[in-house]
Amino acid sequence: MLNLVLFGPPGAGKGTQSNLLIDKYNLVHLSTGDILRGEIAAGTSLGLKAKLIMERGDLVSDEIVIGMISSKLDNNPNAKGFIFDGFPRTTAQAEALDALLEGKETYISAMLSLKVEDAELIKRLLARGQDSGRADDKNESIIANRINEYNNKTAPLKDFYAAQKKLSEIEGTGTVENIAQKLITVIDNL
Ligand code: ADP
Repeated sequence: MLNLVLFGPPGAGKGTQSNLLIDKYNLVHLSTGDILRGEIAAGTSLGLKAKLIMERGDLVSDEIVIGMISSKLDNNPNAKGFIFDGFPRTTAQAEALDALLEGKETYISAMLSLKVEDAELIKRLLARGQDSGRADDKNESIIANRINEYNNKTAPLKDFYAAQKKLSEIEGTGTVENIAQKLITVIDNL
């Protein structure tokens, strides 16, 4: 199996690149942000819990997102592999993911970490807020909180995967195609 963690701060381009990579490698895309927004749109009790947290730009609880990923893994028994996008975001999530995959006799192949400067992230997120209407992309102080959460709780996961010799850092500025090509080169050399 090919199991990739596509990593980086909010606005780094994880969703865009995931969409290109799932087609090329025939993988299942698991974006916890997309799954949570689906729960909100469907008006489930989980969605109701997550909505206010996401609107503030805080992280949803580990318990909720780990449960979501666990059931998605169970629901895709024949997948050739997965792209994890926006997950894991904390050490507890990364440890839980390793355990879940081990239970299925597989493991993370690599973490691909996209590097983008804060000023560029803010510019991209505000532009996305205008197009998509995502509430958490419209307000600069919410965006700043999300980048802060990333720096405090999520960025340390680079060390977690580096310790497993699985970290590759990729420059996340340039054209979409150019960045995709760099990711493909890393994946094809795994
Ligand atoms: P972005 O990466 O652009 O911030 P996402 O769609 O990945 O956007 O996430 C949007 C929001 O969903 C996050 O700010 C957070 O509130 C919540 N969320 C998504 N994934 C997780 C996760 N793995 N753990 C905790 N919260 C999450």
